[in-house]
Amino acid sequence: MNNLSEVVNTARKAFNREVTKPLDFRVKQLKAFHQLLEENGSELVSALQKDLKKPYPEALLAEVESTKNQIKGALFDVHKWVQPETTETNIILLFDKTYIFPQPYGVVLIIGAWNYPFLLVAVPLLGAIAAGNCVIIKPSEKAPATAKALSSLIPQYLDKDCFHVVTGGVPETTALLNERFDYIFYTGSPAVGKKIREASNKYLTPCTLELGGKCPVYIDDEVDIELAAKRIIWGKMLNLGQTCVAPDYILCSKKTEERFIELAKKVLLEFFGAEPENSPDLSRIVNEEHFERIIKFLNCGKIAVGGDYDPKEKYIAPTILTDIKESDSVMQEEIFGPVLPILRATTPDEAIKFINKREKPLTLYLFSSNKNVLDQFLMSTSSGSMCVNDTVVHLSVDSLPFGGVGMSGMGTYHGKYSFDTFSHKRSVLVRSLNAIGEYLGKARYPPYSNAKTRLLKKFLVKRPNLIPPYLSELLIFVFGMLTALTVKEIFAIVPNETLPRPL
Ligand code: NAD
Repeated sequence: MNNLSEVVNTARKAFNREVTKPLDFRVKQLKAFHQLLEENGSELVSALQKDLKKPYPEALLAEVESTKNQIKGALFDVHKWVQPETTETNIILLFDKTYIFPQPYGVVLIIGAWNYPFLLVAVPLLGAIAAGNCVIIKPSEKAPATAKALSSLIPQYLDKDCFHVVTGGVPETTALLNERFDYIFYTGSPAVGKKIREASNKYLTPCTLELGGKCPVYIDDEVDIELAAKRIIWGKMLNLGQTCVAPDYILCSKKTEERFIELAKKVLLEFFGAEPENSPDLSRIVNEEHFERIIKFLNCGKIAVGGDYDPKEKYIAPTILTDIKESDSVMQEEIFGPVLPILRATTPDEAIKFINKREKPLTLYLFSSNKNVLDQFLMSTSSGSMCVNDTVVHLSVDSLPFGGVGMSGMGTYHGKYSFDTFSHKRSVLVRSLNAIGEYLGKARYPPYSNAKTRLLKKFLVKRPNLIPPYLSELLIFVFGMLTALTVKEIFAIVPNETLPRPL
């Protein structure tokens, strides 16, 4: 395990040499990452198929192409993201500059999960690169082919000192967590998430925890149920239910349940044929442990659809369960498989009560054409994200931050939010040394007096957007014109601390 310290040390030294900070370097690495995907997309797809028997379009679109698109997005915008952001100030600091300067944290640890084993390390990685960090990637050991592909490809394309892949299982992850990092980005279960947070406390390392949990679906009676059935079944059966935002269970009325089951049967036949076990469009359960865990759920309630399984193939048929009680085992943990229980909630109020009794979900799904029901769910429930009248597709929108709340996680990423996650927002105030600025604030100096205190109190009182950025320059310019100063004299007063170049 000694070489793990060496790996982290190599990255640390590279960061300290400021290798990753220049924008040019970040752009070059992002382009190299894109090239990796261009040239090795099929190798990655094969690895994903080996690990999870992922259908080709799912592996290609959800992992390889979506990462490529996020890299493209970063390449379009990274020059804007790195810019310091000017902020408003107060009257005493009228002639000064305040701005937020995004800085890389340093050496980042990214720990991935097995269900989207490439995507879940690749997307944080591109955000960390764009933000100027060095990175140690720890892919999941439960998707060994993808971990192997990552560890062979990353050093061929990305800077060898700055970016490293560490393979192995829990001992290796545990050993890595004993090292000092500047940021930890973890994707996986809430149980391990707690361990990661505990480990990060040693050096007070900030962390993002992308966790899971049970994502509920409420189907209102007022909805296009045919479309709802199609979209729910699609989101549930993607990767055979092994998706963090997969619909976990359905809440609806008896009438809607009956119609949903009838339509779900039709949709499943249309999607996967009469012998779904032979469909090329269904993945397999990742390992025996998860297979055994999931088939136990088939003993809950009544099987309305499906229920077949094949241990040799680690295959479980798309299954719908009815007559489910809150106390059933299928309702005690995230299902993470193709089993979809339906529970009764006759009204939106009942559904909200049910959801609010449990941990806050990663995503909450609502199917309704009634705007009042939407407002009610929006106001009275909490979840990392909410997707109305569809499932999973909200993850394809880069302008939306993705992450959990409460037990479903902390922190967000995707698009600019990935850059933000891996950047420390450094606050900077640059005071001018001119006489007017000094005059405005001189009441702060002792000896104190009531008059000075009164004046400061007035100056410091909160006002609505009174001093926008650049007002000081404008005022000085007007002042200069009125007092007939020369241009040279005016510029002598204007704060010469212009914003720093981004690197
Ligand atoms: P996993 O078993 O692959 O574990 C994830 C990582 O944690 C691995 O790299 C592993 O080495 C490490 N790990 C496991 N046990 C550890 C321990 N005791 N100490 C230190 N490190 C340890 O994945 P998983 O946990 O089975 O992942 C499934 C969970 O992840 C589900 O709950 C799912 O909802 C969630 N998930 C969340 C997201 C998201 O974006 N929010 C995405 C995918 C999966």
